[in-house]
Amino acid sequence: MTIDLNLNRPGPLLKFGFYGTRGSIPVAHSDFLEFGGNTTCMSLTSDDIPEAASVIDAGTGIRGFGKALKAMPGYPDIEYINIVFTHFHWDHIQGFPFFDPAYDPGIQIRVMAMGTDREFKDLKQVFSDQMQERYFPVKLEEMGSDMQFIYPESDRRLVGNARVEVIEQNHPGGSWGYRIELAGKTIVVCTDLEHGENIDMRIVDFAIGADLLVHEAQYTNEELELHRGWGHSSYDQALKVARLADVGYLVMTHHDPDHDDAFLLAREKECQTIMPNCCLAREGMEFVL
Ligand SMILES: [Zn+2]
Ligand SMILES: [Zn+2]
Repeated sequence: MTIDLNLNRPGPLLKFGFYGTRGSIPVAHSDFLEFGGNTTCMSLTSDDIPEAASVIDAGTGIRGFGKALKAMPGYPDIEYINIVFTHFHWDHIQGFPFFDPAYDPGIQIRVMAMGTDREFKDLKQVFSDQMQERYFPVKLEEMGSDMQFIYPESDRRLVGNARVEVIEQNHPGGSWGYRIELAGKTIVVCTDLEHGENIDMRIVDFAIGADLLVHEAQYTNEELELHRGWGHSSYDQALKVARLADVGYLVMTHHDPDHDDAFLLAREKECQTIMPNCCLAREGMEFVL
């Protein structure tokens, strides 16, 4: 499913795709096929720079992104892939060892964590720990691609000349939101964040005027009350941020693993009565700006 938010605007096209929409843990069941069962992974590509691709988070959805990328006719021309992380909870790194292009010697993989105040100092160790022999048969160094670990503190470019800003979000252990701007088009991604009693106005300011806001919505208001301190948001809160920030379109993701298609379709309908230009993210969905 492709949603066109470009509306014939000039400049390079920006494409934003969902390869994993689930929070916490993957689910595989016939009641979960519409919205998908893979954990968080979002892709960002632009016809401005065909030799590069970017992906936000490496949940189990990154396996599908790697396969889709390799199937593209332009794959042999791709020189580097940026993998940028919101944070390193399991549901955002689980798929990393299964990302096919990371085994391709012809490709440079740039693992990035933006945000200067991150607690850890050794980004490489996050992944070499994950791939210790006890947990996985292939070591990080044996994967084969030219793997770089970078903290870009200035000149934050994800794809082409896209300008990137980050914001620290309220989440156990910390997480980071991203604002990506290219040729006057803006995408804001805020997943794994908890607002507290009131909406975090820092997030509203950060999202202001975005063409596309990706905001997590793991819970209903009732569920949120039972999960205070777990680091997540409700559908109502995502809608409030979108309306206060006057965004063009809202897509809600990081679906709870207990929420099946029927449940999510019902929530989506309710949300659309409040804000027609919104939906819940589905695996395979693409936005064009
Ligand atoms: Zn998560
Ligand atoms: Zn998390």
